[in-house]
Amino acid sequence: MDKKYLFDCPYALKCGGCSYNNIPYEKQLEKKEGRIRGLFAQLPGYKNFKPDRMIATDPYHYRNKVHGVLGYKNSKIFSGLYSEESHRIVEVKDCLIEDEDASAVIGGVAELAGSFKYTVFDEDKGRGFLRHVLVRVAHSDGVKKLLVVIVTALKEFPKKNDFIKALTGRFPMIETIIWNYNPKKTSMVLSDNNTVIYGPGYIIDDMLGLKFAISAGSFYQVNHRGAEKMYSLAKEFAGLTGNERVLDAYCGTGTIGMLMCDMAESVLGVELCESAVRDAVFNKKLNGIKNYRVVCADATKYITGSGGKENYRSGISRGESGPARDRQQRGGPFDVVIMDPPRAGSTPEFIKAVIDSNIQRVVYISCDPETLVRDLKIFIKGGFKLIRAVPTDMFPGTAHIETVTLLTRSGKM
Ligand code: SAH
Repeated sequence: MDKKYLFDCPYALKCGGCSYNNIPYEKQLEKKEGRIRGLFAQLPGYKNFKPDRMIATDPYHYRNKVHGVLGYKNSKIFSGLYSEESHRIVEVKDCLIEDEDASAVIGGVAELAGSFKYTVFDEDKGRGFLRHVLVRVAHSDGVKKLLVVIVTALKEFPKKNDFIKALTGRFPMIETIIWNYNPKKTSMVLSDNNTVIYGPGYIIDDMLGLKFAISAGSFYQVNHRGAEKMYSLAKEFAGLTGNERVLDAYCGTGTIGMLMCDMAESVLGVELCESAVRDAVFNKKLNGIKNYRVVCADATKYITGSGGKENYRSGISRGESGPARDRQQRGGPFDVVIMDPPRAGSTPEFIKAVIDSNIQRVVYISCDPETLVRDLKIFIKGGFKLIRAVPTDMFPGTAHIETVTLLTRSGKM
């Protein structure tokens, strides 16, 4: 590993953004590998199982989603991040992990806000105009594009058009600007109240040959290069030959599942969040994919068929009657499941339904190794064999660990 990755962040121990920002990158990887080894050693019957070494990524400036809070210092507006577990804002200028253009735009908004004489929202007093800036980054056809969200606590946006002109004039990479009105006392950065005030409202990112739209609130992996590695590995683990019916559970905007479509008979995405489902429908059309469907449902209710019709709301799958009908029609609905749940992990009911099905192969992608190991125990008890576990460093500078695991019924790769 290159010695230059010293991670000597000037904001270490001040900014609450990351907790490993004063640990050399090589040491970060060692710490994470140690944690993974310790957790996997708890799996019954897997005492000698060795997780792979962690896949390293370029640890600097990888974050394609960057958030800044605005505050005052000596009556001048500045941007920064909250300190750990408090609402004090730490000024951050050169963050090691943020995309540098995104950081520059946030700094630019703070400067322009001063010249436009905007006020900054004061949480305690509940007064003021500008709250946060969120910038998302995408690359399409080799061109970098930025999506900017300006979050305000007031319903009026004074001199809006002049502000847009000044900001886009200064940062031509900006493709679109969204105004998010969020007056609530909340730690959530964005409300649901979005108005597109410049450009199309989304940016397009090229990922492994497909195109994915990123809008203000949609889920998208924050580390593009890391995601490429992780998705490629998930595809390899799925072992597709062209005949498989794949369930992409917790599918978000459909990224993983759509990347598998060229090698599968069909892929069905299941996702709880309605706006993510809408994004998945958009992405499917954008890529002209025919063998992908997406259903808006709780993954457990969907796979156990217990949710009734109201759980299957979606743009393209309204009236979907769940896997029970598919099973009757097609003698077993799925051959492979890809599951990528949030940190809370999956549920015993979901896992038991997989165990009782004809699914032969499970690719479990996890962003929390504790809940992963908890869930793997249920799979293993139900007869599945753990074949590989590959930690991927999607979040350098932080303690977070993403792991791609493969389980098969046969015990073969
Ligand atoms: N696989 C996607 C997204 C993974 S994030 C990608 O790589 O881009 C996890 C997703 O699970 C989120 O989109 C979240 O909305 C969804 N989710 C959370 N709880 C869920 C549930 N109970 N059922 C289905 N989806 C759920």
